[in-house]
Amino acid sequence: MTERRPPNPSGRTGRPEILVILGSSLTVIAILGIVTFLLIREHANAQEAATRGATTVAQLIDADVLRTVELYDLTLQGLIAAAQRDDLKQVSAQIRHLVLFDRSTTARFKGDILLLDKHGEVLADSSLIAPKPGNFADRDYFLVHAFNRDSGMFISRPFKPRCDCAYSDEWQISFSRRISSATGEFLGVAVASMRLAYFDQLFNSLDIGTDSTLAIINDDGVLLAQKPFLEGNSIGKSFAGRPNVVRMLREGSGSFDGVSSVDERPRLYTFSRVGNLPLTVIVALSSDEVFATWNRTAVVISGATGVLCIALLWLTWLLCRELRLRYNAEQELAQLAATDALTGVANRRTLDQTLRHEWFRAQRSGKPLSVLMIDADHFKAFNDRHGHQAGDQALRALAGVIKANVHRPTDLVARYGGEEFSVVLAETDSEGARQIAEQIREQVQQLPLMAGDEQPMSVSIGISTWTTASDISLEQLLFAADKALYQAKEGGRNRVVG
Ligand code: GH3
Ligand code: MG
Ligand code: MG
Repeated sequence: MTERRPPNPSGRTGRPEILVILGSSLTVIAILGIVTFLLIREHANAQEAATRGATTVAQLIDADVLRTVELYDLTLQGLIAAAQRDDLKQVSAQIRHLVLFDRSTTARFKGDILLLDKHGEVLADSSLIAPKPGNFADRDYFLVHAFNRDSGMFISRPFKPRCDCAYSDEWQISFSRRISSATGEFLGVAVASMRLAYFDQLFNSLDIGTDSTLAIINDDGVLLAQKPFLEGNSIGKSFAGRPNVVRMLREGSGSFDGVSSVDERPRLYTFSRVGNLPLTVIVALSSDEVFATWNRTAVVISGATGVLCIALLWLTWLLCRELRLRYNAEQELAQLAATDALTGVANRRTLDQTLRHEWFRAQRSGKPLSVLMIDADHFKAFNDRHGHQAGDQALRALAGVIKANVHRPTDLVARYGGEEFSVVLAETDSEGARQIAEQIREQVQQLPLMAGDEQPMSVSIGISTWTTASDISLEQLLFAADKALYQAKEGGRNRVVG
C-alpha cells in the first residue's frame, strides 16, 4: 500500500552532499585546467627559448660561412684578373706565381688553388711554381662553367683530392669561377678548394649540448659537415630523400619539431639558408635536452596537483559521509516526530498539518475532501478483559486494517488519540468515503477473536465531506465527523454514519 510520508521538518528536499560533490568536482576540474594550461604554456616557452637560441647559433654559422666564402670568391676573382693580364707572360715564373696567388693567403683552410685552361689542363697551381700536369675536365665544376656562361661562383660536392698533395685524405669542397674572354668565350676555370675541417672547427667553437647536432648540407641534400656524426662518417652522402631534409630544402629557413630518421629521437630542428649560397645550416636540438627542465617541473607540479586533488576529493568524501549520516538522522527524527510510536501511522501533529494542507488544496481545486473518524467499540472493556498489552496489540491490528484500505498517496491515516483514528481522504466524495469506511468496518470484524471473547472487535465510523456546495469551515468539517461518530455510537456501534 502507499502511504503519505510525513513532511520534512528541515524543509530541505535534495541530497545535501550533491552540492558539495559538485563544488569540489568543479574545484578539482578548475585546478587541473589551470595547471594543465600553465604546463602547456611553460612547454611552449621552453620551445620558444630553445628555438631562439638555435636561431642565434645558425646565424653565427651563417655569418662565418658567408665571410669565408666571400674570401674564397675574392681569391678567385683576383686570380682571374691576374691571369688575364698580358704583361704577366713576360715575368719570371716565380713572380707570376706570386701575383696570381697574392690574394689567396687570407683564405682559411684552403687546399689547392688551380687555374685551368679551356681543356681542363692545369695552367697554375698555388702549391707549386711549376704546376704538375693534370686534367680536370671531368670535374662537375668544370662542366658547369664550360657549358654555362652565367654560372657565377659554383660550389662543388664534397670530394677527396686525386693528388698525393697535402690534405689529400681530407674531405674538401671547391669554389670555382669561369674565365671568359671579352666576347664571353670560355677560356678556363679558376678553382679553389677548401678543407671541410673548416666546418668542424666552426662547429667545435659552439656549445649546443651533448645530444644535439649541427650540420650543413648543400642544395642537393649532401652532407658537408656534422657535429657529432649521427651515422658513421656520412660526409658526401646525400640525405635528399629524408622527409626532414626535403622540408628544410623546400622552406629555406624556419624551425619545426621532428623525429630524426637516423636515431628515431625527437628533435627541434632550426635551419637557415646561408645568404644566397646553396648551403643550409641545420641546428637539431635534442628535445630531451630542451625539455629536461620542463619535464622535471611537470613531474613535480603534476604530482603535487594530483596529491592536492586526491586530498580534496578524500575530504569531500568524508564531508559527504558526515552530511549523509546527519541527513539520515534528521530524516529519522522527522519520521519519529511525525509518527505515532505504538501503531506506526501518522500522529496528531501530522494529521493537523495534512488536514490544513488538504483543506486549502480542496478550496483551490474545488474537489471534495472527506474525513473519517474511527473509534474502537467498548475498548475499555477489551482492555479490562485482556490487559493493556493485548489492547496495544489490538490497536496495531486496527491501524493495519485501516492502512490496508487507504491507497492513494495523498490519503493519510493518523491516530487521533487513545483508540480513535482519523483518515483524511483528498479528492474523495462522501460515497467514496463511505465505501472505504464500510470496508474498514467489515475487515475489523474479521480480525481474529481473542480467547474468551464471543464478539469480534468492531469500530464505529463517522464521515463528513466537504464539497463546493457545503459552506463549512475546517473546524465544522471535523465537528461534523465527530458528530457522525457519536451518532454511530448512539445507533448501536459497529456502523458507519455520514
Ligand atoms: P465506546 O464504545 O463508547 O467507545 O467505549 P470505549 O470503552 O471504547 O470508550 P472509552 O472512551 O470509555 O474508553 C477508551 C478506552 O481506550 C480507555 C482506555 O482503556 C483505552 N485506551 C486508550 N488508549 C489506549 C492505549 O494506548 N492502549 C490501550 N491498551 N488502551 C487504550
Ligand atoms: Mg473513544
Ligand atoms: Mg471507543
